[in-house]
Amino acid sequence: MRTLTTPTTTAPEIAQIVDAIRARQRFVLSSHARPDGDAIGSQLAMAYALRALGKEVRIVNRDAAPGPLTAFPGVPAIEIAEDAGANFDAAIIMECGDLPRTGVTGLDRSFVINIDHHPGNTGYGDINWFDPAAAACGEMVFDVIRALGVPLTADIATHIYLAILTDTGSFHFSSISPRTFEICRQALEAGVDPVRVARNVYDSNNMGRLKLFGAVLSAMQIDQSGRIAIVYLDHDMARAAGGTYEDTEGLVNLPLTVKEIQAVVFFKQHEGDEYRVSLRSKGDIDLGAVAKEFGGGGHKNAAGCTVSGAIDVLQKRFVGKIESAIALQDGSMAESQNPQA
Ligand code: AMP
Ligand code: MN
Repeated sequence: MRTLTTPTTTAPEIAQIVDAIRARQRFVLSSHARPDGDAIGSQLAMAYALRALGKEVRIVNRDAAPGPLTAFPGVPAIEIAEDAGANFDAAIIMECGDLPRTGVTGLDRSFVINIDHHPGNTGYGDINWFDPAAAACGEMVFDVIRALGVPLTADIATHIYLAILTDTGSFHFSSISPRTFEICRQALEAGVDPVRVARNVYDSNNMGRLKLFGAVLSAMQIDQSGRIAIVYLDHDMARAAGGTYEDTEGLVNLPLTVKEIQAVVFFKQHEGDEYRVSLRSKGDIDLGAVAKEFGGGGHKNAAGCTVSGAIDVLQKRFVGKIESAIALQDGSMAESQNPQA
């Protein structure tokens, strides 16, 4: 049985964050560029909680929320900008390992509160609460909201649930703890409709997106071990399929639905020979460490980076590193089954 790590819920930083919030009036919230469900959910849950306390709140992100998330409360009011502007007393940055990843300048013009669960968080805030055991940053935001004494409304609870549902890969990743379900339980009691959330997030595809999935998956390759799926998309393929890059959200998880597939590497052409790489794995295969070797980062089961080079060379390098990560896991599994070995 795997060891469960329950995140800290009594971290001293929570009280510091509560004091810092109470002492200030005007807030800017931000998160990483190309926001995902955890980024959007954490920010909006926090925004609703701060407004319940009578605070002024703006959310400033570098990029728009993915299409399916626009159906969630408050998302259309998020400002998309390259700079945070002025006239705020504190920035609360959630779900972001370092300040440049926001893609938004000027967030550090005032007091900075950093709440995050990414391994390697650089501690860029005046207050830093970092808990890599949290399955989603939304779990940490939940703790802060509770400590602020704000009642869980249906809107707050929906965003907390959205953060957890998406950041656990719909309850697939090893970061899940008993606490994850405790928070979801409270969110449901506060009025979350989990069926509606799941339908909005996962079943609001357009036909172009499904066709693009088809084109990309038909071109998928499997490495010689049969355990690693290599997925590739360039601008020409997207155009031919009638989909856009935004439509690829979630695609990287699909090869893992094949029983034998243990890891996925997805190369998405950015410009010329520059590629955005998404990595996904099952169990204890640590692809966060692999992404880090290529200048990126992330979690054990979900990580990413940006690289440049000839695609066939890149593919070989990534597959080599992923094979080593799988071998490491195979080794530690054998050890735990036979501790004397
Ligand atoms: P993605 O495959 O883009 O959905 O990214 C998966 C996860 O990897 C994200 O939630 C981040 O934690 C992490 N990640 C992706 N790209 C980077 C990067 N360039 N630097 C650090 N972490 C990253
Ligand atoms: Mn997250």
